[in-house]
Amino acid sequence: MSIFAGKSVMVLGGSRGIGAALVAHFSAAGAKVVFTYSGSPDAAAAVAAQTGASMVQANSANRDELIAAVAAAGALDIMVINAGIAIMGDPLALDADAVDRLIDINVRAVYFAGVEAGRQMNDNGRIIIIGSVNGDRVPSAGFTAYALSKSAVQGIGRGLARDFGPRGITVNVVQPGPVDTDMNPANGPMAKMMHGMMAIPRHAHADEVAALVLFLASPAAAMITGTTQTLDGGLGI
Ligand code: NDP
Repeated sequence: MSIFAGKSVMVLGGSRGIGAALVAHFSAAGAKVVFTYSGSPDAAAAVAAQTGASMVQANSANRDELIAAVAAAGALDIMVINAGIAIMGDPLALDADAVDRLIDINVRAVYFAGVEAGRQMNDNGRIIIIGSVNGDRVPSAGFTAYALSKSAVQGIGRGLARDFGPRGITVNVVQPGPVDTDMNPANGPMAKMMHGMMAIPRHAHADEVAALVLFLASPAAAMITGTTQTLDGGLGI
């Protein structure tokens, strides 16, 4: 029997990319999975149909909607806060509202979803935040807003690890480098530049990120908390 059989798992942003892989892996491992989506109802429906997971529309940029969705999931064993967006470009030219929206989704939502998950979470639960190697490293121009958001979630992870640790709940941040998704396609315009910075010059597959998340969610990882776990093919070394 799988170690995740009967476990209650929530994935924020499960309709596409890394989140869809997380839903698939946890579902295949026997967990009861609910995932959120916002702008991609057809993709969400396809993930739900393929995996048997439940889907709920909740915009991470809307604090009340997000908190209500997390509260409705009840006593979780595992929460993965994956929903995120990227905007890149010269900060002198970036639209201020777009930057605020990024902060809403990539930072504020991570804080409020993490707190709400912890409120009802079972003892020995797991909270895993999908950050980015850009939380540690900014190897090219145009990433200031995104890097700000991914550095901020490191603090949220460390703080919640302290707050919830007495209940055996671990909180960790997984920091991918380039992963082949809609956000950052392996054949996209920046791929060659990114590969040039990496020891292993290729995009990761979303399944490779999911494998690390499932390890952190497992009983074997009970003493790993407050950490950042980087999976970037050596981009940040
Ligand atoms: P995708 O753009 O492929 O997928 C993003 C997912 O997040 C979708 O399911 C989307 O749902 C959801 N999402 C986005 N905005 C919202 C919102 N406002 N409310 C609810 N859900 C939302 O991205 P990735 O899979 O590549 O990225 C997932 C995470 O991994 C992000 O946090 C990203 O920053 C991080 N990451 C990605 C890397 C990469 O190279 N791909 C590298 C490092 C980190 P919907 O479409 O339904 O709105």
